[in-house]
Amino acid sequence: MPSSVTIHPSVDHGVTAGSSHFHGGTLHCHCTHNPVLVEVKSQLAHNHACGCTKCWKPKGAKFSVVGVVPRDSVTVLENGDKLHVVDPSAVIQRHACKGCGVHLFGRIENKDHAFYGLDFVHSELSPEKGWAAPEFAAFVSSIIEGGLAAPSEMAGIRARLTELGLAPYDCLSPPLMDALATHAARQKGVLKEA
Ligand SMILES: [Zn+2]
Ligand SMILES: [Zn+2]
Repeated sequence: MPSSVTIHPSVDHGVTAGSSHFHGGTLHCHCTHNPVLVEVKSQLAHNHACGCTKCWKPKGAKFSVVGVVPRDSVTVLENGDKLHVVDPSAVIQRHACKGCGVHLFGRIENKDHAFYGLDFVHSELSPEKGWAAPEFAAFVSSIIEGGLAAPSEMAGIRARLTELGLAPYDCLSPPLMDALATHAARQKGVLKEA
């Protein structure tokens, strides 16, 4: 079901289901010469469309598509000298190729963060098929801030996300927001056990 509203090339013609027998692949940056290669030995979790202003998006896309994998499943195979951290002060340190700008993986170095131990990756950089499908859309309103959509377009964009089965949220999904809040409550010593 194509639509005039575009989200991201990997979902614009419908969301492709992942495979339960899939165990990872190799991410390639977009350089035609000496590309950075990063091996990921894991299926993705919490894959989603993201409208935030920091995630890498392919040309023309309003959203990124990004998921998480255990950080110990991620290994730089080739041309790692081309990687640099886009913003060392950000919670997620996005390791990008200096040549083409593609983000190969985003890593959380703060051991106190709820998502410490997970790396953020874009499975579209891998030729392998079977990666877990995106499940929801996060930070939808941020595409206005990123200059990617007019406020008047948002109702149509949210409707298209819903049609694709990507429930639109203006933060993360409720389970992930609950996970962040649970971690914060535990750190404060106020976590209520049911
Ligand atoms: Zn590159
Ligand atoms: Zn994002």
